Amino acid sequence: MKNIFIIFLSGLISFSSFAQKVKTDLLISDVTIIDIKTGKLIPHQFISVEKDVITGIYNKRKAANIEAKTSISGKGKFAIPGLWDMHMHFGGGEGLIQENKNLLPLFLAHGITTVRDASADISNSVLQWREEINAGKLSGPTIFTLGPKLEGYKSVWLGDIEISKAGEIPKALDSLDGLKVDFVKITDNTMKPELFLEAVRQARKRGYKVSGHIPSSLTMQDVMAAGLSSIEHMSYVLRAGTKNEKEIAELSASGKLKGRELNNRILADFDERTAMKVYGDMAKHDMYLTPTLSLPHLLAHLDEDNHQNDAYLQYIGKGLQKTYQMRIDRTSKDDKEAIAFRKLMIEKSESLLPLLQKEGVKIMAGTDAGYLNSFTYSGIGLHKELELMVAAGLSPLQALQASIINPALFLNKKEYGSLAKGKKADILLLDENPLLNISSTQKIYIVVSKGQPMTQSDIKKALDDIKTKMASGL
Ligand SMILES: [Zn+2]
Repeated sequence: MKNIFIIFLSGLISFSSFAQKVKTDLLISDVTIIDIKTGKLIPHQFISVEKDVITGIYNKRKAANIEAKTSISGKGKFAIPGLWDMHMHFGGGEGLIQENKNLLPLFLAHGITTVRDASADISNSVLQWREEINAGKLSGPTIFTLGPKLEGYKSVWLGDIEISKAGEIPKALDSLDGLKVDFVKITDNTMKPELFLEAVRQARKRGYKVSGHIPSSLTMQDVMAAGLSSIEHMSYVLRAGTKNEKEIAELSASGKLKGRELNNRILADFDERTAMKVYGDMAKHDMYLTPTLSLPHLLAHLDEDNHQNDAYLQYIGKGLQKTYQMRIDRTSKDDKEAIAFRKLMIEKSESLLPLLQKEGVKIMAGTDAGYLNSFTYSGIGLHKELELMVAAGLSPLQALQASIINPALFLNKKEYGSLAKGKKADILLLDENPLLNISSTQKIYIVVSKGQPMTQSDIKKALDDIKTKMASGL
């Protein structure tokens, strides 16, 4: 009798829930979802969003029961999770804090809903923006940042935590704990190699992912054994593919081999079998790679396009633009031979991407956009990086995985990486299928960031606002 009563009662509840509309903040209707893991297209889907979370994916029949405050028709559109730029820099000194802050809406307007700040000299501001954005007080992409990076004493970089002996590592990491940084970065300008390895080991022990540049005297095996989690830039994986990396490392560290001579040796000694073995080991060690193709590619082709007339410069502050000059000056000194060699190096580096992918190294899309790095732009730059990845031989799906799935895996953020119930409502609606043409990531219809939709007129307004701010020097 009791059981029958319960069945009767639950029948009543389900009947009443059917009759009563389920209320939600946002409903995207009749859209084709792209499964970024498999590349499968799932047509006629309805995505419901409550605050900043996806609360369900439904078919038409089930979605009929949903009443949304805001409805967006996704008919004919393609839905993917928001894009991540996994290597950019906020920086350039105290005087450029406002210009950096102005870049935040530029990311959102281009569908970049998350960035990984790879450090510079305005960490306190970046940490503050991270909190304000998370609290909904500031509009911008979700920021993951390492705060100040670790370096040796008196390096070329400003704003780092500088250490010169192993005893200083715990205190340095304590201060990063205090800042609640999202990962740790260690670079090699004046950092002693042994200290570098010890800092990697200790940071890993505390549970941090550690990214870095590799000191010239260390091999890929050395940093893998210490537990380095991600490598920034392609030059290190190119060198790791040489038959005698250890010898080249020693010659380079002692200064006996440098500049073009060093690079010539690397090109001459590169061996695909050796490279495959090392890349396979990197994958086994769960080591990620952010190739940052954009900047070296762009600098190698500066003789063909000097970028002085890029329309996008109207979104970049004058102070930030000034910081571009150093690399322009350096590159324009190159003679014909040097230019040709630069192109050769970048072509060789880019050609390694499919090999790395095949061996299982997880690749992450990052632009190196920010101060110093001439003409690789915050926002649009990520789309250019994806195009370069595909031109280098990755499939459009693999390039999208590098911007959507691998970053979330790297930072262990389970609430990102796909469009599914319980995931963050960072959603991009595109006019065209990016699996057919990666440039279609630029055909943005609507950006949803933390559940908040930006329509095309919102995007236009955001871009116009930035332009006005830049023109008036604010
Ligand atoms: Zn960088």
